[in-house]
Amino acid sequence: MGAGVLRTRPPPGGDPFARLGGVLTCGSHSLEDLANEHATPLYVYDGDRILERLATLRDAFAADGADPGSPGLVVAYSVKANPGLAILKLLARAGAGADIVSGGELHRSLRAGVPAGLIVFAGVGKTRDEMRYGLRSGIRAFHVESAQELDVLGSVAGDLGQVAPIAVRVNPDVDSPTHAFTRTGHARAKFGVSPGRALEMYRFTAEHPFLRAVGVDVHIGSQIRDPVPFVNALDVVLEVAGKVRGDLGIDLEYVDLGGGFGISDGEADELDVRALARAITRRLHGTSLTLVIEPGRFLVGDAGVLVTRVLYVKRSGGKTFVVTDAGMTDLIRPSHYGGIHAVSLVREQDGGPVEAVDVVGPVCEQGDFLARDRHLALPHPGALLCVHQAGAYGFTMSSNYNSRLRPAELLVRGGRVKRVRRRESYSDLIRNEADE
Ligand SMILES: *Cc1c(COP(=O)(O)O)cnc(C)c1O
Repeated sequence: MGAGVLRTRPPPGGDPFARLGGVLTCGSHSLEDLANEHATPLYVYDGDRILERLATLRDAFAADGADPGSPGLVVAYSVKANPGLAILKLLARAGAGADIVSGGELHRSLRAGVPAGLIVFAGVGKTRDEMRYGLRSGIRAFHVESAQELDVLGSVAGDLGQVAPIAVRVNPDVDSPTHAFTRTGHARAKFGVSPGRALEMYRFTAEHPFLRAVGVDVHIGSQIRDPVPFVNALDVVLEVAGKVRGDLGIDLEYVDLGGGFGISDGEADELDVRALARAITRRLHGTSLTLVIEPGRFLVGDAGVLVTRVLYVKRSGGKTFVVTDAGMTDLIRPSHYGGIHAVSLVREQDGGPVEAVDVVGPVCEQGDFLARDRHLALPHPGALLCVHQAGAYGFTMSSNYNSRLRPAELLVRGGRVKRVRRRESYSDLIRNEADE
């Protein structure tokens, strides 16, 4: 690969942002042309890549669909990774369901055409309003995270005269080697309940006229590249499912393994989903349990990039800073989670000799950076940089801090470019404020 490209390994299936004549492209459109037309910072998503990733998961987990012993599969896209309506529609048309964590995500999912029967609702703090909205919409299940929540859900369902389908989110107490903020499956995390508490909650459900147990759920964290913690977590929830059948005589319909399938960030390889799927489906073989998975980042992460223009190159304190027009307000992963994103020049020829640089944004915070201590062909002011693997937890975590305008988003599909969100204007900034 050429100068300025930090990605060491192209993702499997080929790089969706390949170089043509020294310039990065998306679906044969030059990112330079797109940036010139739509201004920077700019998010660009490759819709074909998203569908290819969905197919990869389906192939891996439902490898032998013809075998009557193999489990059914529901891919419930984790909406919070990238909740854009255009992306949700794309996935809904391809038959994906949705894993949601708020009423807002339910609204988006329904609006995008995700069938309610394929929507599962997680989260430790669902409000009564959100429960009512989910019940009225007829979602597949609530993934309940505490005994109090289950009690409240039962009473909300009773008020509506409806039965609430539920799965208990189990905390399997497995360690997952990922950042502390994205590690959710250890005993001291706020998510889920212990297997013992889960059984008590299934017992409560069995005796409640307005609750019905349909599944068991686990989600151990994000950006996990080792199959072992997933398999350990599955073993814990299968044991719970076995006790629910043995003690209460209830056959659950599905087991939900959650999401968190890690992708490559240019430094480490992605999770081997085929190896994971083999281990998982082997354990489910012969049971009547449907498998639900909730991938977010795996589907959209490397299908998106953030394109930004270099404003200045500044040398100070023995360091070289590349100041870009995008910052933590556009992509907060580097400063919030220590997220690593490969950064490369959109046009190879726009750089000088390779140097160690910090790529920093214009926001008035020392923690505002996109990359630190990176070896990059020193870009000329005005050059465009591409920040890779920005399709998940990118735009959706953006903010107006420093009264900055949030960028436009483009979706490229089958060679066609669609602007799926316009860049904000100054009037958008103050739209909801009373000015006297
Ligand atoms: C965030 C989340 C996911 C998706 O995580 P990824 O790392 O994006 O795959 C899945 N399930 C639940 C419950 C989540 O909170």
